Amino acid sequence: MRGAHGSPAKPEGVVIVGGGAAGLSLAHWLTKTGRTPVTVVEPPDGPLRPAERTWCYWDEGPGAFEEAVLASWPLLRIHGRDGGALTADPAPLRYRMVRSTAFETLVHARLAHHPGARVVRATAHTVRDVPGGAEVRCTAPDGRELTLRGRYAFDSRPPRRLPPARTTLLQHFRGWFVRTAAPRFDPDVADLMDFRVPQPRHGLAFGYVLPLAPDRALVEYTEFSRAPLGTAAYEAALGHYTREVLGLGALRVETAEQGVIPMTDGHFPRRAGASVFRIGTAGGATRPATGYTFATVQRQSRAVARALAEGRDPVPRPHGRRALAMDAVLLRALDAGRVDGPDFFTGLFRGVPAERLLRFLDGATSPREEFGIGLRTPIGPMLRTAAELPFLPRRAAPDVPFPPRRTAVRPPSGEKPL
Ligand SMILES: Cc1cc2nc3c(=O)[nH]c(=O)nc-3n(C[C@H](O)[C@H](O)[C@H](O)COP(=O)(O)OP(=O)(O)OC[C@H]3O[C@@H](n4cnc5c(N)ncnc54)[C@H](O)[C@@H]3O)c2cc1C
Repeated sequence: MRGAHGSPAKPEGVVIVGGGAAGLSLAHWLTKTGRTPVTVVEPPDGPLRPAERTWCYWDEGPGAFEEAVLASWPLLRIHGRDGGALTADPAPLRYRMVRSTAFETLVHARLAHHPGARVVRATAHTVRDVPGGAEVRCTAPDGRELTLRGRYAFDSRPPRRLPPARTTLLQHFRGWFVRTAAPRFDPDVADLMDFRVPQPRHGLAFGYVLPLAPDRALVEYTEFSRAPLGTAAYEAALGHYTREVLGLGALRVETAEQGVIPMTDGHFPRRAGASVFRIGTAGGATRPATGYTFATVQRQSRAVARALAEGRDPVPRPHGRRALAMDAVLLRALDAGRVDGPDFFTGLFRGVPAERLLRFLDGATSPREEFGIGLRTPIGPMLRTAAELPFLPRRAAPDVPFPPRRTAVRPPSGEKPL
């Protein structure tokens, strides 16, 4: 298309590469709040598309994606290594779980009703600046080459490598969706961290239980450490946790999910060109100390939509500098074994009101509140770590292929049938 004087017309609208959590959230907020044409590029079914997964977050709700919320919990619980449990009420916040397929179906349906939105099935291979905007080159399932142009491109393709960092840990886990023979779960309570599992030599491990009904739950085994386990090791850990710690008795594993989330103080540049931005995990939206990403993606997507509507530079940083600095200290202290992970997290939940702690994890606390939270941590080791950090080099991340290959999520064979 050419402009009035024969020059190429300026690209318009927005191209979003990747229709996962960040891409579809951004498409939703852009189409809800503005008139910008939006194209989402998402590969056809195959190795690039992630397996179904669940995303949990807290908010006051009901939010924009309530129809995709599978379950929510008013109460949160932590189990210390000593077996002591603490149940906290983070009101007005509530913990919510969205299943990725329900989220995709919901957002795709909304986009289908929006005159300026479309989802293109194709695999992007080049995302770059062109005069006046950005260009995305991709290959359609029938092998045709497509070129899409927009005023901006937002790229959420997962990073191939993690950035150089002072500390690189991984949050890696496997979960079973279980059905038990007898009612075993309290549907009002989500067990966020259960440290009654055996601890690894390096890092930390915990169980995570999200009840869906009195006899159904997602039960996960998670580690924060340097390398993922093989499936057999997760299965063994889950078998031990469900039998010996939770005492669930006879159960059926209906399906499983497995994943790896980066926990790094490496820098994910969010700008890849004058008109090209990275979003989602690729753009640094994953909170280093917790792995939570979904809520940040919503905040950032709303901000991008507002900025575009007001003609401002569109992508604010996903996390504040203070939050990243504090996370860098914690990651380092955990990695160096200077703080005991289970005691650290249990102490925080015991010492800080749950609502304030969750706001802290959202980067929404004041410096004064953060000082108070800092007092609930092992002060000496944390200060020593903070003092050493500026002198540590950022080294190339260990050779962990990221994202990891898709893993089989078939149920294990060893569990007792109902
Ligand atoms: C199993 C699992 C559970 C998680 N649970 C939580 C949770 O409970 N709470 C939370 O806050 N965070 C959670 N996370 C972390 C984070 O929220 C997710 O990883 C989230 O999916 C990140 O969103 P994203 O858009 O950056 O990446 P993705 O959702 O992975 O989206 C990337 C998209 O890019 C597409 N793509 C890849 N290559 C191409 C290409 N060449 N061209 C076009 N498109 C391409 C993919 O198909 C995919 O749809 C979890 C992560 C995993 C793996």
